[in-house]
Amino acid sequence: WKHAPASFRALLEITRFHGDKVFVVYEDERITYEEHFRLAATLANRLVDDYGVRKGDRVAVAMRNYPEWIVSFSAVLAAGAVAVPLNAWWTEQELDYGLSDSGAKVVIADGERAARMAGSGLPMIVTRGEGANWAEVLGEVRADVTLPQVEVGPDDPATIFYTSGTTGRSKGALGSHRNLGQAPMTVAYAMMRTVAMAGRDVAAAAEKRRITLLTVPLFHVTGCFAVLMTTMFSGGGLVLMYKWDPKRALELIEREKVTVMSGVPTNAWQLLSHPDLDKHDISSLGSVSYGGAPAPPKLLERITESLPNRTPANGYGMTETTALAIYNSGGDYLAKPDSIGLPLAVVDVKVCDPLGAELPPGEVGELCMRGPIVIMGYWNRPQATAETFVDGWLHTGDLARIDEDGYVYIVDRAKDMVIRGGENVYCAEVEAALFEHPAVDDAAVIGIPDDELGEQVGAVVRLQQGAGATGEELQEFLRGRIAAFKVPVRFWFREAELPRNPGGKVLKTHLRKETLGL
Ligand code: ATP
Ligand code: MG
Repeated sequence: WKHAPASFRALLEITRFHGDKVFVVYEDERITYEEHFRLAATLANRLVDDYGVRKGDRVAVAMRNYPEWIVSFSAVLAAGAVAVPLNAWWTEQELDYGLSDSGAKVVIADGERAARMAGSGLPMIVTRGEGANWAEVLGEVRADVTLPQVEVGPDDPATIFYTSGTTGRSKGALGSHRNLGQAPMTVAYAMMRTVAMAGRDVAAAAEKRRITLLTVPLFHVTGCFAVLMTTMFSGGGLVLMYKWDPKRALELIEREKVTVMSGVPTNAWQLLSHPDLDKHDISSLGSVSYGGAPAPPKLLERITESLPNRTPANGYGMTETTALAIYNSGGDYLAKPDSIGLPLAVVDVKVCDPLGAELPPGEVGELCMRGPIVIMGYWNRPQATAETFVDGWLHTGDLARIDEDGYVYIVDRAKDMVIRGGENVYCAEVEAALFEHPAVDDAAVIGIPDDELGEQVGAVVRLQQGAGATGEELQEFLRGRIAAFKVPVRFWFREAELPRNPGGKVLKTHLRKETLGL
């Protein structure tokens, strides 16, 4: 191709060959691949000509999941600039942090986000809603529009995505054009492998058009890379939702004949638990995949019960690995339901002790990864970069073990552990055991400060509607499943949903504050 390989510009030009095929669906709006190319190329030229955006400049994109998010992201990259997707849930102060941390030069936002960033003084392109100037900024969208002239190579920076902020302040993850190009290729490869392993016709599967329902935000890597980029790479269709709503998801799957549903475990769980599940024809759905947070074992059972013969998949990934890095799907997943599977084709993994020495199979240590989807480092944070990326290996902060067959098991986050009298209790393990109780709808395990033991184990539990269970009953149930020292000594029952971030992770700091006032 005429542009450097593995640069986003090349991908964008290639997508033109999908022409009139619908790329993005949002409510009643539809954008074809050719329309998307023209819009993105037009905006890219405006950014360069009217906003003075140059190679390497940062352009922030702050919106809900609107089609313009995708057009803007494409345009920024096509202009050779660095796209900085900001969390649409962020408050004024948080958005301000994102803008100043990234050093953004221009902002592209929907009306609501634009209002929250009005104080920034930055040039603002407002896509829809209050104060929209999108149509004026774009001007005429011509059929013969070409990409602006700029040389972009595989090792030039392309994106700054902010991590979820589960363990502290969000860090800007600097990804290259190579990362962005490798991510969808390796995901597509892993999906073909799943089809082949199931003994299905790979050629027929490749011919079938993938229509994916996006259930998560585009501003996190799962939505952007594992879903959007993979869709673009395969010429499929993408159905957007303004916000997650299981009833609406059922309607959209039926209306758009969605073949793939992808998101966080909570999405799949809520969809399959919905009372109207039987009222909708969702037979088009061929696979249900999720990742980004630990998947309760009950979820796989629920999928095999309600959607037999579909491909379930659990993906493990991080902002630092351009989304998916380790993947468990189909027959592999059914055989090893508590594993996150095998590393993607381009990823190397190892498990290390605290001094960085590699551990043998079966032992628990920190999971480390290497490969072309591992990002360049953290934006403007040399110290955090040096601590996390050591000799080319990304230190994930997740505790894992690898079995004899090379399958990876996440034990917990290094920081999501209760240390009770010197004994490590992995919250994820206790949570998984709680999930097995039929009355439990959701659960999160937290550490309770204790003078004698340092910490005690506590659990916040939400029961299924209409179900009843006491703390004593849950303790009794757990004693048959996990060691006594891991059984929570205190329970908090709540009716409201557990607080989660858009990545589906329980916000334990909020829970600790609510329950313990810490
Ligand atoms: P921060 O790094 O700012 O604290 P974060 O780690 O939550 O936030 P992300 O990059 O969105 O930010 O999330 C990556 C983490 O999510 C992984 O390190 C892991 O702990 C968890 N995770 C992702 N996928 C899975 C999975 N399939 N099973 C279990 N945990 C997962
Ligand atoms: Mg992290």
